[in-house]
Amino acid sequence: MGNFRKIILIDLDGVLNKYDGNFSENYIPDVKKGAKEFIKKLNKDYDLILFTTRNNLEATKWLIENKMDEYFKDVTSVKIPAYLYLDDRAIGFSGNYENTLKQIEDFKA
Ligand SMILES: [Mg+2]
Repeated sequence: MGNFRKIILIDLDGVLNKYDGNFSENYIPDVKKGAKEFIKKLNKDYDLILFTTRNNLEATKWLIENKMDEYFKDVTSVKIPAYLYLDDRAIGFSGNYENTLKQIEDFKA
């Protein structure tokens, strides 16, 4: 039990790279400034899994090219059980549906 670490699923596009909304299957945008340092720090306390709808092999290659593969346990497009999901296209649900409707309405990518 001593080695148990909480899992965080981390989105790729728009969180770790400079994705601007123009999706291309064959091109993964450049890494965002500070992303590697962020991942490195986070990995001290959590197990990290890259959570992306992109091709698994391409996403893995991107991690290797950007020297971040050592900080990730896995790459998946499946929402596996985790402590937290980090995504640029998400709203944290507070339990209040009215507030959530408003947040969805006001959401800007
Ligand atoms: Mg995203």
